[in-house]
Amino acid sequence: MFTINENYGKLPGSYLFSNIAKKVNAYTAAYPDADIIRLGIGDVTRPLAPSVIKAMHEAVDEMGNAATFHGYGPEQGYDFLKEKIVAYDFAPRGVKLDLDEVFVSDGAKSDCGNIGDILGLDNVVAVCDPVYPVYVDTNAMAGRAGNYGSDERWDRLIYMPCTAENQFTPDLPQGKVPDVIYLCYPNNPTGAMITYEGLKKWVDYANEHGSLILYDSAYVAFISEDKPHSIYEIDGAKKCAIEFRSFSKTAGFTGTRCAYTVVPKELQCGGVSLNALWLRRQTTKFNGVPYIVQKGAAAIYSEQGQKEIRETIDYYRNNAKTIREGLTAAGFTVYGGVNAPYIWMKTPDNMTSWEFFDTLLHKAQVVGTPGSGFGPSGEGYFRLTAFGTYENTVRAIERIKQVF
Ligand SMILES: *Cc1c(COP(=O)(O)O)cnc(C)c1O
Repeated sequence: MFTINENYGKLPGSYLFSNIAKKVNAYTAAYPDADIIRLGIGDVTRPLAPSVIKAMHEAVDEMGNAATFHGYGPEQGYDFLKEKIVAYDFAPRGVKLDLDEVFVSDGAKSDCGNIGDILGLDNVVAVCDPVYPVYVDTNAMAGRAGNYGSDERWDRLIYMPCTAENQFTPDLPQGKVPDVIYLCYPNNPTGAMITYEGLKKWVDYANEHGSLILYDSAYVAFISEDKPHSIYEIDGAKKCAIEFRSFSKTAGFTGTRCAYTVVPKELQCGGVSLNALWLRRQTTKFNGVPYIVQKGAAAIYSEQGQKEIRETIDYYRNNAKTIREGLTAAGFTVYGGVNAPYIWMKTPDNMTSWEFFDTLLHKAQVVGTPGSGFGPSGEGYFRLTAFGTYENTVRAIERIKQVF
């Protein structure tokens, strides 16, 4: 008889977004005319840039002609896209990458999870708390997280609390040294950003202890201050870090799917190149991102494409500013929203995250995300996103001001 991966049975149900949906549905059933404003989702809403659409239309036409048709492409992405990535996303920041250090993929979510394929199962993994759940759940599925306890923690993971007290940047682990460390800046869910000094501390720690940093910079396009855009801006990072990037939040590709991962050739483990392992993994289990989609992604690097995606990012940024300033003026304590599309607020009057969720839904008809859903240290916080329309963002803040 066959067996299954027993680790799946250890996973707690993912109740966060289904609980939110249940509560919102119950409310709308009771008040069918309620005009609910949703600032909970982490998905973009603005359309793809015209340059991207034009490039994809042209690519579709190429696919319809035998002379310009494309079948299987290189699993790790076409050079026309990787050349742009290297020249525009890294070279201007002083980071020199070879084309074969960049792996184009269908998503940073898949890459963050799949990277575990090339890592030993006995690695001890450290995650921030609160955290993007993908890092935790994919390690749990692989068996690296141990067992899930009644304290809502996995017993083999190291949780690094991120709270207002440490500016949402974890302190270096005391005691047990993690083998693998996930960092995400700009951060989802807290909206926090890390400084050059702060990131250097982590790179030095990893090199000193032989740890691997998995650096997720999916929100890099939202950085507005003088902060590191890539971990490779820090000396020594190529020896200890893999970086994940995505076109999802940068250019509205959440439904179109394109991302990339950088695995430097300098990154070695006992003389084995992680770049070679990842190449082997991708060429075996992945057959590349559609030509049409890669053409669309490459179009964001044209002068016109850059202008267009900047306009959309600025639109979301203005929403973030509207939320941040509006809530601050109303007396709330808010974090994030400067280098990220997320605003992380302290719940008022020591309410729990879910109490605040209920109050906001019932009194202001505004939906956000309870911080406790992202990890134990998220309790007492609440996440609002800047991905709504400007009009709804303004209306939501007016309502919250009236209630509190
Ligand atoms: C949205 C997001 C991603 C991007 O995922 P894709 O699969 O590329 O759409 C990666 N990391 C974090 C933390 C995110 O919020």
